[in-house]
Amino acid sequence: VHIRLHPNNKGNKRKLLSAHVGDLSSVVVGNSHTSAKQHYKMLVLGGGSGGISMGARMKRMIGAENVAVVEPSEMHYYQPIWTLVGAGAKTAASSGRTTASVMPSGVKWVKSKVQEINPDTSTVRTDDGTELSYEYLIVALGMQLHYEKIKGLPEGFEHPKIGSNYSIQTVEKTWKALQNFKEGNAVFTFPNTPVKCAGAPQKIMYLSDAFLRKTGKREKASIMYNTSLPVLFGIKKYADSLWDIVKRRDLQVNLRQNLIEVRADRQEAVFENLDKPGETKVIEYEMLHVTPPMGPSLVIKGSPLADEAGWLDVNKDTLQHKRYPNVFGIGDCTNLPTAKTGAAVAAQSAILKRTISKVLKNEKPDTRYDGYTSCPLITSYSTVILAEFDYNGEPLETFPFNQAKERRLMYHMKADLMPHLYWHGFLGGLWGGPGPYRKLFHLGMK
Ligand SMILES: Cc1cc2nc3c(=O)[nH]c(=O)nc-3n(C[C@H](O)[C@H](O)[C@H](O)COP(=O)(O)OP(=O)(O)OC[C@H]3O[C@@H](n4cnc5c(N)ncnc54)[C@H](O)[C@@H]3O)c2cc1C
Repeated sequence: VHIRLHPNNKGNKRKLLSAHVGDLSSVVVGNSHTSAKQHYKMLVLGGGSGGISMGARMKRMIGAENVAVVEPSEMHYYQPIWTLVGAGAKTAASSGRTTASVMPSGVKWVKSKVQEINPDTSTVRTDDGTELSYEYLIVALGMQLHYEKIKGLPEGFEHPKIGSNYSIQTVEKTWKALQNFKEGNAVFTFPNTPVKCAGAPQKIMYLSDAFLRKTGKREKASIMYNTSLPVLFGIKKYADSLWDIVKRRDLQVNLRQNLIEVRADRQEAVFENLDKPGETKVIEYEMLHVTPPMGPSLVIKGSPLADEAGWLDVNKDTLQHKRYPNVFGIGDCTNLPTAKTGAAVAAQSAILKRTISKVLKNEKPDTRYDGYTSCPLITSYSTVILAEFDYNGEPLETFPFNQAKERRLMYHMKADLMPHLYWHGFLGGLWGGPGPYRKLFHLGMK
């Protein structure tokens, strides 16, 4: 289109230009720039562990220009290290890097929040009103924390003596409360909902016990773990070891106790007895560590992608959505029936890559996820029990020795090796879990 403008007629020039630009854009929308900006072959929702690692894997598979990741946060956190931040063994600063620095180069970062997913039209709307369309969608939105479901929170965190390793805003408060401990109850909670890293609520108890022993205050402390669960840990082999530890170290475990209120000004925590409805107990604390209730992403819950409970409804073998074959899921947001951990996300990322490569070739996905997940149960500043298991709750251990034993080597792996592996291997889509090493260590027998 050739536009001729008269230099002295500015008003007309503007009109003429807008008229033609309008025409042009409507002509161009069908096949060129305007729509290209909004449409992606592979759209990833969430730039956490699963989202960034899949972004990197998809970049290698189909080219960076075809991939976009929607993530509102400026910062990306390696959440597993927060357990050690809460115990003063690592700094909060070491847990985060800018999202810009972990985004695979060339992949489009859509810096907004997903508000609505519409899989029937293959579109997503963000909070600034932008509509993105996709050919394939990977959902990696994590899970939602609900401190507000406990009466008195989150405002209670403005008081001292209370912390929570589950959020960057409150993790350093745990360490402060531990350092300032004088005398009384140290209380650790586990909520009445699914959680991510189900070991983390008790790991901080073992570390606090170790810290109080180291600083000569242990005799003045009564340490208790109040959990909504009927067990100390879901997998018997590791639960047995943990029961030995709590007995040996005089840690009191109260099962089926659910935190419902915090009166932070009075340092009181209120628990309901889940086995006796209506029965509550008030415990005065000198230190309180809160693991908040958690639930599915509200964006997924409000979409046709959700199962009845609100989780992303995926095939447990292939990670493909059960009803929308161009949609896939990874990580904490899914209804995969395994423990929600970063280690599980790593294993899933390798499976999902394989599933998507098959789907792109119009072939049937052929790899099956075995539910591999792992939880390094930190039991002191130098020991870890490394729980690893599958969908059936059967131990699936990498090393050729009994991992239910507390080991120093496993602590170094957790504290020193894993963060490196996360930032330099996993986020780059180069770490799909320890499966190949397990085979090697067990001479191909596992
Ligand atoms: C204290 C603690 C200790 C842990 N310890 C361990 C451990 O020892 N070992 C282990 O393997 N795992 C551990 N984990 C669990 C691990 O961190 C998670 O399982 C893992 O991060 C899950 O990855 P994900 O991608 O599913 O979710 P996340 O990494 O949480 O990412 C979700 C992303 O989605 C983004 N998002 C949310 N809503 C929207 C929206 N509407 N629009 C766009 N983006 C959105 C979020 O900003 C976030 O970046 C621990 C977690 C915590 C908190």
